[in-house]
Parts: sequence; C-alpha cells; structure tokens
Amino acid sequence: MTANNRLTYSFGEGKAQGNTGMRDLLGGKGAGLHEMTRIGVPVPPGFTIPTSVCRYFSLHHRRYPNGLNKAVADALRKMEKHLGRRFGDPVNPLLISVRSGARESMPGMMDTVLNLGLNDLTVEGLAVRSKNPRFAYDSYRRFVQMYADVVMGLKSNDRTTADPLTQILDGKKARRGIRYDTELTADDMRELVSEYKSEIKSRLGKEFPEDPYDQLWGAIGAVFGSWNNDRAVAYRELYRIPHHWGTAVNVQAMVFGNLGDRCATGVTFTRDPATGDRRFYGEFLVNAQGEDVVAGIRTPRSIIELKRVMPTAFNKLRRICKLLEKHFREMQDIEFTIEDDNLWVLQTRTGKRTGFASLRIAVDMVKERIISKQEALLRVEPDQLNQLLRPIFDLQGKENAQQEGRLLGRGLAAGPGAATGRIVFHAEDAVAWNSRGERVILCRIETSPDDIRGMDAAQGVLTARGGMTSHAALVARQMGKVCVAGCEALQIDYADRALRVDQTELREGDWISIDGSTGAVFRGEIQTLPSEILQVLLNRSLDARHSNIYQYFSKFMKWADQTRKLGVRTNADQPDQAAIARAFGSEGIGLCRTEHMFFQGDRIQAVREMILADDETGRRRALAKLLPMQREDFKGIFEIMGSLPVTIRTLDPPLHEFLPKTNTEIEELAEVMGVDVGTLRNKVNVLQEFNPMLGHRGCRLGISYPEITEMQAQAIFEAACELRREGQNPFPEIMIPLVGSRQELHEQRVIVDRVAAEAMKAFGIKVRYLIGTMIELPRACMVADEIAEEAEFFSFGTNDLTQTCLGLSRDDAGKFLPSYVLHGLLPDDPFVSIDQDGVGALMRIAIAKGRRRRKGLEMGICGEHGGEPRSIEFCHRIGLDYVSCSPYRIAIAKLSAAQAALRK
Ligand code: ADP
Ligand code: MG
Ligand code: MG
Repeated sequence: MTANNRLTYSFGEGKAQGNTGMRDLLGGKGAGLHEMTRIGVPVPPGFTIPTSVCRYFSLHHRRYPNGLNKAVADALRKMEKHLGRRFGDPVNPLLISVRSGARESMPGMMDTVLNLGLNDLTVEGLAVRSKNPRFAYDSYRRFVQMYADVVMGLKSNDRTTADPLTQILDGKKARRGIRYDTELTADDMRELVSEYKSEIKSRLGKEFPEDPYDQLWGAIGAVFGSWNNDRAVAYRELYRIPHHWGTAVNVQAMVFGNLGDRCATGVTFTRDPATGDRRFYGEFLVNAQGEDVVAGIRTPRSIIELKRVMPTAFNKLRRICKLLEKHFREMQDIEFTIEDDNLWVLQTRTGKRTGFASLRIAVDMVKERIISKQEALLRVEPDQLNQLLRPIFDLQGKENAQQEGRLLGRGLAAGPGAATGRIVFHAEDAVAWNSRGERVILCRIETSPDDIRGMDAAQGVLTARGGMTSHAALVARQMGKVCVAGCEALQIDYADRALRVDQTELREGDWISIDGSTGAVFRGEIQTLPSEILQVLLNRSLDARHSNIYQYFSKFMKWADQTRKLGVRTNADQPDQAAIARAFGSEGIGLCRTEHMFFQGDRIQAVREMILADDETGRRRALAKLLPMQREDFKGIFEIMGSLPVTIRTLDPPLHEFLPKTNTEIEELAEVMGVDVGTLRNKVNVLQEFNPMLGHRGCRLGISYPEITEMQAQAIFEAACELRREGQNPFPEIMIPLVGSRQELHEQRVIVDRVAAEAMKAFGIKVRYLIGTMIELPRACMVADEIAEEAEFFSFGTNDLTQTCLGLSRDDAGKFLPSYVLHGLLPDDPFVSIDQDGVGALMRIAIAKGRRRRKGLEMGICGEHGGEPRSIEFCHRIGLDYVSCSPYRIAIAKLSAAQAALRK
C-alpha cells in the first residue's frame, strides 16, 4: 500500500505516519496529533482514518473500502503493544476515544465518543487495575451516555427538556441532595449504568452493545455520519467549507482526568485570545473529563491556579505550550489532560481571537522574530480592524443584561461598536435632544436621506427594516456610526412614539443599548468604553505614547503602507469627514457627493427653489444663493486635503429626492417662492418618476440644466483659486456621473473647462485639475475607449454598475436577494462584494479600452465595494490605481490592498 492511500495512519511513542502537512487527509486534529507526537510532545497513541474514507463512506451508502477492517485491527494491535493493554480484555482493558476532525476546525459540530471499550466485564477489570471502582463506573456511565446520544441517537423529545439519560442523572442527584457529578459514589454510578441501559432498551427497543468491536464500528460510523448532520452542513455553508472534504476519524488511547485529585483536564491558549497579551491563559477542572470544561457542568478554574495544585504538570504544560507555539509559529489553543500528575496533550490548533488580539499577536510575533512582516500582514483579517475603532460594551454589563432578560432582539450587525442612549423616533428630535446634551439612539422603521443629521446626532441607529446596504447601514458605515439594521422583532409606532417587542413596550426617552458588532438590542443602559485609537487620532484626547493599542495599530499600518500597490482614498462629503480620513492616512478623496451638502441647514429651501423654478432665470436666482455655500464647502474640504486629489461629483440624484413632501413644507416653500400652493403641488407631482434610478439624474441633469454644472464648477474653482492665492495647492478632480456616451461627457466637460478658465483668469492664477467620469453603466464600459478621449480619469461607481449590470434594484432586492445567496444562486450579495464574473468583466473591458485610448488614464473605484476586502483584492488584480472607501474603512482597505499585493 502506498503512502497516499493508506486506510490508517498510526502515531505513538515518538513516531507518526503523518505530519502537519497532511491536514487535507488527516484533518486538523489528526495532523496536529501526528506532528506533536513527532516533536516529542506526550500524546496518547492512536491512529487516524483519513478523510478519503469518509468520502467513500458518503458515496457508498455508509459502506467502507475493502481492507479497512484489517487496517483498523492492525493499528489497534500496535496501540496494544505500546501500552501493554488489550482492547476488550476483562483484566487490563484498553479504552479508546473515537474523535472527529475535519480539515478546518468546526468546533462542536461533529461527534466524539470517549471511554469506548467498557462493558460489564471490562469495567470490573478497570476497577481492579485502577484500585478505583468509583472512577471505573464514572467512566462507564459517561461512555454509555455519550454512546447512546452520539451513536444510538437517543435525544430529548423537545428542545426544552434534557435528554432522557440526563434526566435520570439529574433525578439521582436531586434525590441524593447533591449538586455536582463528583459527589456521586461508586454505587450511584453503577446504578446509573444499569438505569441508563434499561432506559435505552425501552426507548430504542435495542440493547446497548457489549462487544467492544461493535462499539468501535458503531462509533466510527457515527463520526463519519456526523459530517452530514444538519449542524455540520449549516456550519459549512456559513463558512464556505466544501461539502466534499469529509472528516477524519481519530482513534486514540484514553487518558484519564477523572481518576482523582491528582488528575485534571483543561484548555489553554498560548496568548490571551481576547487581548493578545502574551500570557499563559486557560482553564482547568480537577477530577474531570474532556467535555466537562466546555459544558459548564462546574465553573472551571484559572490555569494559574494549576501552578499551586500540580506544579510539576503545570511547568511541563507551560514548556510544551511554548514549544508548540514556536513550532507552529502561531498562537495555539491546546487541550490537555493530567492523569496522576502526568501531562498528556490531546489537541493543538490555531487559536481563534478578537481583532485586538489578532493585531497584537501578529506584531508581537514579528518582534519576537517568529514570523516576518509579510506573514503578520496576512494574519489579520482586514474586517477585524473595525473592532479597534469602535467603542465597546463592557462584556460583564452585556452578560448581566442578558441574564436579566433585557435582550429585545437581534438585527444585522451593520455598524460595529456599542451605543447606549435614549430612544427618539425622529431625526429632528435626535438633533434637538443631542443639543441638550442627551445621548440618543435614533429608532426608525427605516431611514432616508432626510435623517442624516439626526443619524449624525445620535449615538447609534436602530432600524426595524432594511439590509446591509440599506440607507441606514450605508450612512452608518460612512459616519462610523453604530448601527443595528433590520431588527424585525421591533414594532415601531411613530404616532404613539413607542417601540414594542411582544409584551414589552419602550417609549420615547427610555434607555436602549445596541451592539453593532453582534446585532443585539438590549433594553436599558450598558456601560461602554471608547476606542483608544480614535482618542489618539481624532479627539487627540490621548497621547499616542500612552496607548498601547495605538502603537500596535500604527506600526502595523506602516507595514501595510510599505507593501501595498493600490492607493487608498476616501468617500467624504464634508470637511469633518475629510479630517477623519486624513487622520487615517487617506491619500485623497475619491468621491465627494455634492448633494449631501444640499441637505445641510436651510439650504434645502434654495435647492427646492432651483428645482421648481419655471425657467432658467428662476433657476439661476436660486443657484446664486447656493453658490457661496458650495464654495465654502469645497474650500473647507480642500483646506483639509492640502495638495491631495479631491474628486468632486457633480449633482447626481433624481431631483424629486429634494422635493418637499408634507403639506406644510409645500406651503412654506410656496410662500418663499411667491407662487400659489396648487401650482407648486402640481410641479412637485410632475417631477415624480416611475423609475427614478434610471430617470432624470446624473449628467442628464447637468445636460438639461447646464447652469447647475456651471454653478458647481464655479464654486469648485473659486474655492481652489482662493486657496491657491493663500499659498495652498488644491487638486480638484471633477467627476461627471452616469455617463453613457462620449458626447454626454463632452458637453459637460466644455462647461467645466470654460468655467475653470474664467475663474482662473479672474484670479490670475492657475489650478491643476482633472475632468473625468464615473463608470457606472454597462454602455460606458463598452464604449470606454471613446469616453477616454474626453476623460482624464475613470472612477467605477460599482453601486450603480451592479444595479445596471444585474438589472437589480438595490432598494427592492432585499425581498429576494438574501434567499438567492442562501441557495447559492449568487455566491454573495453583489452589493457587498463585487460580482467579479459579471460586473468585474465589464470593469476589465472598460480598463482595457480606456487605457488603450489614453495612456496613464487614472482608474479608481468609489462604490461601497472600495472598502470590502475581497473586492479590493479584485481591484488590485485588475490593475486599478486606487480604491476609495468611507473614512472608517481606510485601515481595512490599506490592509486588504497589502494582502492583495502579497498574494499576487
Ligand atoms: P471536539 O472537536 O469537539 O473538541 P474532541 O475530539 O477534541 O472533540 O474531544 C472532546 C473532548 O474529549 C476534548 O476535551 C478532548 O480533550 C477529550 N478527549 C478526546 N480524546 C481523549 C482521550 N483519548 N483521552 C482523554 N480525553 C480525550
Ligand atoms: Mg477538541
Ligand atoms: Mg451612482
């Protein structure tokens, strides 16, 4: 038999047939056991049945490949020889565990059986050999219970009650007036075993198997079968683990943590998985077995106490942990058991960790010369950096709240972080309450552009409807606002100013807490802690030297900057956002949406006047009011961005978004404009569109009303000239939206060039600038060569490009898109991660055509995708010059770009 199609791989006594490179075949757990054995870590001997057998088993109606029987028997013989005990021997029995273990760890998803090989005969042998009948029967009752559950399928009848055997155990404990399993006597255990067996018989109509080999094959089948249980399948879907991988089975000699007070079992991490602190971290239980620590049967003790209780084993454990971390060059999560002061290691794997820990461990390991900077960059999930920037709930506070029954429901974790405040239902209230110094949470069924200021004023935003790309979620991300979106359990009653969940009613002014990192919503207040990085960079309320986290963060980001090839710009509409972006090291603004400025203060009146004016004269009158305001906006942004490029998009959204909606609004406006209410209402109605997304918007507005583009260009260039005169060097890039033909861009370009020349002439000063376009229509991609003749840059507006390429309206997709993704009709939500095959193909065409026509054509992306790691990697691959994302995602984008450069 060749090395690659063996049916079993043995390990023990310092030798192993497998190694750490054989994860695919042996599973993570198996590969780890083989490797540990090789490097001299004390591991109980055993063997692994590879994942290939699981695949065979699944494809052949639960049958095994020829020869497995013999291979298993041989491997068992080897173990028996090592240990001097025999499987099924009534005098000196070998007991084994049968453990699952896939390529990627799937914690708790599949099954494991411990203490296998016990029956009414062997248990007596074990009792005599160990001189500890209580231990022998403790192991036996554990085995019967586990086997009945995992292999025989004895489950509880419903979700609220425990399984039948646990009920028997609880009943016994109650009758004996004891709390812990450890207080049961040997006789109690013996009784339990026979009570269990008769319960199994009466429930399942079959006997508990006494023959150890029947037990073994039952367990092997159950473990292989558990690869396809509902839990495991769902887990794989969630984490994109292929179904064909299969699990391995590890058969291993038992070591016992339940032999008495010189015994224990536990779990340790080589570093603190929450903070990344380089300290020995973990938990253990004396006189216990494997699962007890995790199952919460007794509260485990901190690993540090082990030093006092079993110093020899503790020191050895510590040495081994160091060895394993060094060997695997990664933080390890380790399972161990101590049997009569002897330490055994049962599992080692890469430890899961928070964003804080991830960053810290990566940087520390470079310092400790364990890994290179490049490896460190690849070890932090870009999205995890988010956690470093958000205020966080005090963990204890959250636990208390949950225990007190204050959890109201869960929505989408749309804007990570923690926020506590008083409930308000309207944006104006949020602003008003905030100006009185109140912390508020804006609770809406959903939000609209009108709510921006209210969202800004609120600590956090909570909506009952909407997805990850809903307005609330999008704005929250850009603002760095805590947000839980689409919490369906909430019934929001604007009229009554109340929010209800089942019987609970909360009213305006009541306290509520939302956790945008998990989506949980709690009644009442929970203490929060602010992010140190923001305190250093933005508020400047913390000295960089005093913030450990900041030090780590800035060092790490420096490495990312040195590595990446993609530029990183930001989407910012206002000076304060630009300031945040610069604090995070943005290299320019990739998208400044001018329309958001139109909502500020009472400008909306002037905007409405402009839209509803009868003729050009009327429009120009209104535009003249807007001009100085826009000029100031741009000046503010240019000032902050210095000589970095600032990409300004001319007016884009359909006009009716700005229109007055309520009667009062229409009446007020009629008075300002000096027209009668009826006429105005008619005009408003005329401007409604059937499909505004494809309607009168983008450059179509500037083409119908050139004076709008004119005013915007004038504001931009006057602002730039003024600053130039003050010795600064602003760099505007004027971006025309929704262009589908060369001619459209040409017409707008002529206006901008003319106004620029006029302004520069008036000031007697030159300003460098570029004119380009957003590429957001399939047609624009197909004729990109022609458009490139007019454009000095392209910026992919992948939000609209996705809508138009897929023929999918983002605002309506919420009804079916989630189920599309769930059922694999689309690999991902295309509004979250670029549809690389479709939208991506259009982008490639546009890039090739554009660059062919114009050398050095600058290319970027300004859609939401510009802040999403997988999309960023794609942007790197197709050769964009930069990505632009919201200010709070700059670090994520930089790291993603660095990773893309490293992965090639
Ligand atoms: P999981 O993948 O769910 O962690 P494991 O196969 O690791 O399942 O086993 C569950 C528990 O049983 C672990 O705590 C492990 O340490 C313990 N265990 C497994 N095999 C043995 C053994 N041979 N001797 C003692 N304890 C064991
Ligand atoms: Mg385990
Ligand atoms: Mg667009």
